[in-house]
Amino acid sequence: MAIADVKPGKSDAVSGRESVLEVTGLTKRYGRLTAVDGISFAVPRGETFGLLGPNGAGKTTTLEIIEGLRSPDAGQITLLGEDAVKNRRAVQERIGVQLQSQTLWVELTVEETLKLFAAVFRNPVPIQPLMERFSLSEKRGELVRGLSGGQKQRLSVATALVNDPDIIFLDEPTTGLDPSARQSFWDLIRELQADGKTVIVTTHYMEEAEALCDRVAIMDRGQIMALDTPRQLVRGLSFDSTVECGFSGSVPVGTMEALPAVREVKSEDSAFILFTDDVAATLAGLMEVRDDAGQRVKSLHVRTATLEDVFISHTGRRLRD
Ligand code: ATP
Repeated sequence: MAIADVKPGKSDAVSGRESVLEVTGLTKRYGRLTAVDGISFAVPRGETFGLLGPNGAGKTTTLEIIEGLRSPDAGQITLLGEDAVKNRRAVQERIGVQLQSQTLWVELTVEETLKLFAAVFRNPVPIQPLMERFSLSEKRGELVRGLSGGQKQRLSVATALVNDPDIIFLDEPTTGLDPSARQSFWDLIRELQADGKTVIVTTHYMEEAEALCDRVAIMDRGQIMALDTPRQLVRGLSFDSTVECGFSGSVPVGTMEALPAVREVKSEDSAFILFTDDVAATLAGLMEVRDDAGQRVKSLHVRTATLEDVFISHTGRRLRD
């Protein structure tokens, strides 16, 4: 799909809310590589908007241009009504940027870190309630070096909130966190949502996009492949279930394509991903298939369609290859 064809999702029009961010034709090149390839989208106030895609898709570059950390080669960005490319300083006080937790200064304490960030802004919020909210009060005197991964991540989000911003940008916020720290982190984001904040988040975890985002732009190789609510993206597929199967020997792709109710087939060595709209019929047919050595299916995994399948359907690849 051409990038210029991707319009903001329906929920934009349905919500009737004003856009706090409008990105049009955004392009960024690094030498011969086009990292961001003319993408367009708009985000209404109060929405949690996700950029979902694999490593190298162009998510961070997109976010950093919007935040004013990098310059685009082409395109317009209107952020909180201001031209964010020409007039970066006008919005800096009103946005919150979560730095990667690795970029926190390890020799500072939790409290010193927050005070340092607060000193940058004209009207910072009080630090103590911020630490309480992020369950960091007990750690206030502890060096960043001694914090767990989840605590560092909470601190890095807290630093993004010292100026009580209207829009918060989170770049891959839960990468490297264990499942329970990730869940706690999601709860924090839900609190921000309940406060009416607009959240822009990049992730390569489809579960995260499904759990947190009102709308998701699926990115690959600098382009937006699809943009809508997670539910609509999955509903827009021509199938509702996915059957992943593997054989010891080889089986012609045509055999798989001819199975009942199969809408699409992706092949990977001697394994296949079958997209079906009648999983029982497809499985019944699959049980009859034999590979070139006369062996039946060796591995089988059946699931309802997810955002991962939207990505596979558009690109032929998995989100985490
Ligand atoms: P990741 O999750 O790995 O950060 P991403 O979707 O955020 O991936 P980007 O970091 O935006 O992707 O990178 C997009 C492409 O641009 C990649 O191919 C990357 O190697 C390249 N790239 C990013 N920054 C630079 C740079 N400063 N100079 C040259 N190439 C770059």
